[in-house]
Amino acid sequence: MALYPQTFVDDVKHQADIVVVIQDYVSLKKNGANYKGLCPFHGEKTPSFQVNRDKGFFHCFGCGAGGDVIKFLQLHEKIGFHDAVKQLAQRFGMTIPETEQTDDQRASAAEREALLKVHESAAKWFREQLLTPAAARIRRQIADRGINDTTGEAMGLGFAPPSRTALKDELLKQGYSEGLLVRAGLLVQREEGPSVDRFRNRLMIPIRRDTGSVIGFGGRAVDADQQPKYLNSPETPIYSKGRTLYGLDLSKAGIRQKGFGVLVEGYFDFGQVYQAGFPAVASCGTALTPQQVQQLHRFASKVVLSFDPDTAGQGAAAKSSELFVADGFDVNVAELPAGQDPDTFIRSHGASGYGERLKHSKPYLEYLLDRTAAGYNLNSDEGRVKFLAAMLPTAARIPDAAMRDRFADRLAFKANITDEVVRAKIREAAVQKQTTFATNTIPSLGHVTKAEKALIWCLIHEHETALTALVDLEAADFEELPSRSVLDLARGLNDNRGFSPSVLLERLNMVEAQLVTGIASEPEPPALSLGSCVGELRRARYERERATVQRAIAQLQTRGAAVGGELDALLARKGELGRLIQALVISED
Ligand SMILES: [Zn+2]
Repeated sequence: MALYPQTFVDDVKHQADIVVVIQDYVSLKKNGANYKGLCPFHGEKTPSFQVNRDKGFFHCFGCGAGGDVIKFLQLHEKIGFHDAVKQLAQRFGMTIPETEQTDDQRASAAEREALLKVHESAAKWFREQLLTPAAARIRRQIADRGINDTTGEAMGLGFAPPSRTALKDELLKQGYSEGLLVRAGLLVQREEGPSVDRFRNRLMIPIRRDTGSVIGFGGRAVDADQQPKYLNSPETPIYSKGRTLYGLDLSKAGIRQKGFGVLVEGYFDFGQVYQAGFPAVASCGTALTPQQVQQLHRFASKVVLSFDPDTAGQGAAAKSSELFVADGFDVNVAELPAGQDPDTFIRSHGASGYGERLKHSKPYLEYLLDRTAAGYNLNSDEGRVKFLAAMLPTAARIPDAAMRDRFADRLAFKANITDEVVRAKIREAAVQKQTTFATNTIPSLGHVTKAEKALIWCLIHEHETALTALVDLEAADFEELPSRSVLDLARGLNDNRGFSPSVLLERLNMVEAQLVTGIASEPEPPALSLGSCVGELRRARYERERATVQRAIAQLQTRGAAVGGELDALLARKGELGRLIQALVISED
């Protein structure tokens, strides 16, 4: 992987305001000199994620994640340094310098681009087919479902005619290769014979990224006996079912504005809810995944689930809710009368009727307690025990401790348990299970001393004075320190006159970045002058050496070594170290 020139990376970081970038994913509030929000890297209800705009770094006091704007993108998008820099440059309209790519990289980037392009062309063609006289019946079907032309156009609805090769012929004519069409999932390669269109005689629904690029299709049967009812694009390098939340491109602005999203199940539920003016998204035929939850979390941290009231729909609601709750979402459930889904309900009760249902939606846990309680006889001891057993795992997954306690109390109340001891037991059980979810997965560097903290804090906030302290130190002073690699790096950069807080942050690995941003996020440095830091670190080094010398002396003595020679030298060194340490202690007082 060729590297971008440092000047370009510096320019990108200069342009890419870390607050602006992070706000694409996390809603941030100004808090003194910093910005605060809910951490996108772990589930939480109270914000422990901080962004320091001036120094250009973020840090989460909950899970420890930290770094500069590039590291944020790397972590959030799970991409490499190079791609993160490139994305930032694109986001801020900068010209990207040519770098040498390996053949593989060129191929995969070119392949993705070609796949996006062919999807765009296919979507356009399907759309055109819907507007032909031959598709009058399909247009009527759409109108019968209450989807108007504006909504149909916004969704990009189209039609795949019954022909076996209509799309293939068209796209080959446009210059696309057959191989690309097969890889895009638009053609199916038969074992024997030529490839044919995957989607035939279907109402076509383009699936788009939140940026609006078409990456796949859902195709709905138009004849009653046609199987399957829904046919989706296969997984391709640009489309992964579990990572795509349908409708985010149309609803993201509304979600941000209203502060919540409405999760529905299917394309037509989406169309209806969106048309009624609510910010909908749909999971579309797949069980909700954590990646989809994270997609939504970029725009809001509240969601209203609007599923079918039938058992399957409610089961899906329960599963989805738990994913949202675990990610720190506020989850409500909108209940509809039996036999209705959002699509049919809006058609019979209108947008305002549906709006009322959303407004009176129940907090998920409330909803779940009611629903689960209905399945047990809470007047019998046996029923109560079973009810508790069914609810405790849910309680355990609530990430916020105060909320978990409240839930345990509600649970006890619902189960008619008035005994305070039993209530306490429920709370305790919920907490014990919780620990298995809250494990901090971030590796630790070990105990960092006050002197290291002061030095690192100053490297970010007052780096000129910190650098003068750094040159007074020697490589040996850093040996065995948990922050050694950070301090070595800072010294190296300084020797090459390339030090700046920004470059230091950029060069740190993930674990080092967590350490540094954690220290630098403190409003004040530890109360220790930089001069004392040097003294402290030097003294710690002498003490480490004295301990080593002492061990060597003890070994020689147990072996019965005679006085003189090696033992004498060690004893002399030990004495010298004692004096050096003493001198440092006195100079500090
Ligand atoms: Zn976090």
